Amino acid sequence: MRQTVLIVEDEQRLADLHRDYLRKDGIETCWLDNGAIVVNWVREHAPDLILLDLMLPGKDGLEICKEIRKFSHVPIIMVTARVEEIDRLLGLDLGADDYICKPFSPREVVARVKAVLRRSTHPSVKRDRRLYIDKEYYHASLNGKKLDLTAVEFQLITILSARPGQIFSRDQLMDRIYTDKRIVCDRTIDSHIKKLRKKIAAGSPDLALIHSVYGVGYKYEEA
Ligand code: CA
Repeated sequence: MRQTVLIVEDEQRLADLHRDYLRKDGIETCWLDNGAIVVNWVREHAPDLILLDLMLPGKDGLEICKEIRKFSHVPIIMVTARVEEIDRLLGLDLGADDYICKPFSPREVVARVKAVLRRSTHPSVKRDRRLYIDKEYYHASLNGKKLDLTAVEFQLITILSARPGQIFSRDQLMDRIYTDKRIVCDRTIDSHIKKLRKKIAAGSPDLALIHSVYGVGYKYEEA
């Protein structure tokens, strides 16, 4: 399966350089030279990776990256003209997967593109994507950001996310969490869910993961 890299670059010479080297490695490319049309293009064509220049006519790379992250986790490699800019961009937490500084070596670009593609297509090394749960260390992170959860919240998200789409009643959730058969009322689960959702929303406001099913219970779905 050939992968497609979208090159967003207003200097044709640089875009050609990216294209030639990526093609040699069997990677298809598309090229856009104006920032204003990128977001819609990505929505329609869903490329496998985006090489995104920071300074662009129409709309800058920073804004484009932010807008794309609202609906897509497509890998993005930002290309900047100054190395100091990378620090600033990292601080902004844009959700880009890597950064390359101009002048770049085309070979290095290809290597980085392939590394990011590998990460994003190989599930076991998928990182910074959506929800990640490490049961051994009681660690959960969402889009690369650690979720600071209580033991009950951690169990809730682990149980629900193990079966996306499956509806769990409050009783089922309580049975799994309170194995000592303590008497807890329904509302306990509701309040834990409420707090859990708040923590998820704090890091990823556009991501709803835990859905209420009216009169029944809850389910996990990445929507
Ligand atoms: Ca530029």
